Amino acid sequence: MHRLLSVAIATLTLFIAALAVLLAPSTDAEELRAGGGLRWYRGNMHTHSHWSDGDDYLESIADWYQQAGYQFLVFTDHNVLPNTERWVIVDRTKGKRRAYDKLKARFPDWVEERGEGEELEVRLRTFQEVAERFNRPEEYLLIQGEEISDSYNRYPIHINASNVEEAIPPMKGNSVQETIQNNVDAVIAQRERTGRPMIPHLNHPNFGYAVRAEDLMPIRGEKFFEVYNGHPSVHNHGDHVHASTERIWDLVLAFRLGELGLPVMYGLATDDGHDYHDHGPKEASPGRGWVQVLASELSPAALIEALEAGRFYASSGVNLKSVVSSPRGLAVEVDPVPGESYTIEFIGTKKDFDRASTPPVDDKGEPVHTTGHYSSDIGQVFATVRDTRATYTFRGDELYVRARITSDAKHPDPSEPDDFKQAWCQPVVGTAAIVSE
Ligand SMILES: [Zn+2]
Ligand SMILES: [Zn+2]
Repeated sequence: MHRLLSVAIATLTLFIAALAVLLAPSTDAEELRAGGGLRWYRGNMHTHSHWSDGDDYLESIADWYQQAGYQFLVFTDHNVLPNTERWVIVDRTKGKRRAYDKLKARFPDWVEERGEGEELEVRLRTFQEVAERFNRPEEYLLIQGEEISDSYNRYPIHINASNVEEAIPPMKGNSVQETIQNNVDAVIAQRERTGRPMIPHLNHPNFGYAVRAEDLMPIRGEKFFEVYNGHPSVHNHGDHVHASTERIWDLVLAFRLGELGLPVMYGLATDDGHDYHDHGPKEASPGRGWVQVLASELSPAALIEALEAGRFYASSGVNLKSVVSSPRGLAVEVDPVPGESYTIEFIGTKKDFDRASTPPVDDKGEPVHTTGHYSSDIGQVFATVRDTRATYTFRGDELYVRARITSDAKHPDPSEPDDFKQAWCQPVVGTAAIVSE
């Protein structure tokens, strides 16, 4: 037998053997894989339009995502729901004539306008109208959302509410943490009052370096944050003073699970699209980051149920065939693109991690608004595998383990230079963690 082939078969046999351990009948293992009535649905949960500061019309954006192969899209304009009668002067919209010309070309019989010349106005389609035109069972679903755009002092604090029914005004607060909590609570209160499934998620923590790991750790009722956001101003990688969003994720997970008795927080990838006409590193273009949700049907309720159960992964270009999570470990299988190779890293924190931290200070010793300095115990890479499949088996002392998969192919339209295509699996909690909420 050819040597490479025999090596491949040996690796596959090992993978299957390790998988069998994870999936042993005595464990409550879960395999995320399409089949048996479940499908992967690709969606973007962060989108701007002419209803706030995006540069295109709702229907043109809905069309873009449908053509790009998405199954769902959440419209999240700043502090507004697209559900009233609103006219805009074409030349004063962000998309100006370019957006208008495309709208007329794509929907020649579906544009309401009045006036002419510089006074030409178009009526913005409501969410309801656009959803009625585009939604198709099991094919495509538009979901109403809002980016609750709040601030504390000079720090922008943005929380998306997906499948929201009524607009939620910024709730304010006396600290970054309290402002996040008040807005999360407002979404949960509307959900309880209306009985309609809806979820908040914390957007781009590093936009304006507003949200530190310490602000996010203690938030109750918040299950999601953006580990990847495709807007060019959100600093996913942090800088020499500020933690990256992945570092923030590990700090949040370590302290929630190991110290605060709070559940995990899941990582989302989103576009935060604003710019639909130009592509490039300075534009907030669509198509950069998304979630793949394994659900029983394409409905807001089924998607939200799956998201809340962690049955999804975040992606900026890598697709997965299967993710197995179990109290015994985590296994990942990539759906490879021919010609690309992949690095699978298992990242986590052990239960006996060093909790000590040093608050950051400036040259004069004054505290600065930055995530503190913590031990490198937090967010260790436990294992690295260069293959399309890999299994991590718990040794027993881990609080949690998560997986990051990186292709050797560059992101085709990166928001930060030299980004590669990646995927992020949700953390699996070890038996060592204490979780009470
Ligand atoms: Zn925002
Ligand atoms: Zn946004």
